[in-house]
Amino acid sequence: MTGYDAAQICTNGHTINRSTRMMPNLNKDHCTKCGQATVTACAACAAPIQGAYYSDGRTSLSTKLSIAPAYCHACGKPYPWTALAIQALSDLLECVAGLSADERRQAIAFVPDLQSETPRTHFAVVKWKLLVGKAKAEIAAGLQKALIDLAVDSVKKLLW
Ligand SMILES: [Zn+2]
Ligand SMILES: [Zn+2]
Repeated sequence: MTGYDAAQICTNGHTINRSTRMMPNLNKDHCTKCGQATVTACAACAAPIQGAYYSDGRTSLSTKLSIAPAYCHACGKPYPWTALAIQALSDLLECVAGLSADERRQAIAFVPDLQSETPRTHFAVVKWKLLVGKAKAEIAAGLQKALIDLAVDSVKKLLW
């Protein structure tokens, strides 16, 4: 086999098996960390979640690849764990006094710019820092934690 195997990931984003076809004995219906059901394909377009890459039946193991992808490679929709994290962030934003619905939408629209480096990343970081500055201490702490969990490593350093 040459190409990606399908990965199995729980809906909270814990990677279960990166080689569901090559190593089906490692598959699990539910996550052993959190108990949620596992998925192997995008709910929106049914494209398999990309797991280990095989070349002539051999794969190179990389620890970094155990991180669940955030968005579907085929249709660009967020996977369930990304949608959950964005929803949590959105719910926390509702607790920040004095923010309009528009400001909340804008802030959420910048989330993908924290999840990977884009031309808007630095702008997104400044925007979010200003926004978190408006929140009360405990809400601000929650927002910081949620953003750091979502952000790609290189952006984490820019955040706090
Ligand atoms: Zn899990
Ligand atoms: Zn998809």
